[in-house]
Amino acid sequence: METETITFNDLYLSRELRRGITEMGYREPTDIQQKAIPIIQEGRDIIGQAQTGTGKTAAFGLPLLDSVNARSKKTQAMILCPTRELANQVADELIKISKYVEGIKIVAVYGGKPIGQQIRDIKKGAQIVVGTPGRVIDHIERRTLRMDNIEVMILDEADEMLNMGFREDIEQILDNAPVERQTLFFSATMPKPILRLTKEYQQNPEHINVVKRELTASKVEQYYFEMKGSQKADAVRRLIEANNFKSCLIFCNTKREVDALLVKLKAYGHSVDALHGDIKQNQREITMKKLRDEKINVLVATDVAARGLDVDNIEAVFNYDLPHETEIYVHRIGRTARAGRPGIAYSFVTRREMGKLRAIQKYTKTKITLGKVPSYKDIEKLKETSIADEVIQTMKSGKLEKYDNWVNQLADEGYEYNEIASALAKILLTKKN
Ligand code: AMP
Repeated sequence: METETITFNDLYLSRELRRGITEMGYREPTDIQQKAIPIIQEGRDIIGQAQTGTGKTAAFGLPLLDSVNARSKKTQAMILCPTRELANQVADELIKISKYVEGIKIVAVYGGKPIGQQIRDIKKGAQIVVGTPGRVIDHIERRTLRMDNIEVMILDEADEMLNMGFREDIEQILDNAPVERQTLFFSATMPKPILRLTKEYQQNPEHINVVKRELTASKVEQYYFEMKGSQKADAVRRLIEANNFKSCLIFCNTKREVDALLVKLKAYGHSVDALHGDIKQNQREITMKKLRDEKINVLVATDVAARGLDVDNIEAVFNYDLPHETEIYVHRIGRTARAGRPGIAYSFVTRREMGKLRAIQKYTKTKITLGKVPSYKDIEKLKETSIADEVIQTMKSGKLEKYDNWVNQLADEGYEYNEIASALAKILLTKKN
């Protein structure tokens, strides 16, 4: 069933780009890259249905970087992104890929940052501009960004841009671009408004879909738990404690739910933070870094806020609420089991949502196993086993002389060794996380 695999050598990329991606550790093109790159190279429009983590940035980035004229300083391509994080991420990836391409300049423009520096950067001659719609319009209106030489327009996470209310902005930008151009859409989902937009602004686009295939190959272990809304917070707590997760992501459907869960998990003593649309950009970047560095163990988020979140070490994803769309489920759980690591997804399902769960299983062609929320007794047992393992490991690795003195001092004061050991065990086993 497997179609013929295409290698990077088959893709007619310049030597400079091949050097760049080799340095970045790309060995084989991903599914979306294999399918999209040859079509984009032909100059055709595409609708790429792919989520973050599939390699979609390089799927449009590689042919784009090969087609722009690096000797000209004119802006020849524009990539629109829903958030500042994604714009930065895309620009960074393109800068890395094009490390050996001489003369290429890529500039990211977005709100929340002084416009002056961006104007100077564009003026120096940026062939590729990556931006959020609002700020791009701002530059167009100030005439600091010329659209008349644009040959390629790319919409990244188009569905998200529409969800965030950018439809009119996007239309205004596309209307400002020359009619003779290539237009590439990338979107995790394909709701009607997206289809309307492609009809209006694309010419005979090729539809490329990799969502399902990526998931079939997914390494995520998936479990569901049937419960009432009121039982969810306690279940999260138990699952985190029983598994001793260092890094997990919890998705709620609403901001209110995010805030309420944040308060509860804080009260349970977890190191937790939240992301949703009302949280300022600066704060969001700080929070993401904290999760990446494991300064916090739990991040509670809405879907919109988690877009552009690029963290490789997430051990578990919780669907605190089942998402309304199946594709969002796929998108959410794709945040774990990255870079060859294992990953677990937990979904909390109310009785009324069982049908939705069945639909997800059918769509994704994967099995979601009924899980059991561990009891406090189970947690205690797991904790005991893991601490016993740690003690044995520590004894095996030696280098305990420094601590011998400390124990002997207590023994000299008349305490028995087993008494000292039991007291230490009590301290360890009753400690909160
Ligand atoms: P994206 O879906 O564009 O957000 O990409 C997800 C991650 O995969 C990024 O860290 C990319 O650098 C990486 N990536 C993209 N293409 C490849 C490839 N062919 N091989 C290995 N990693 C890749």
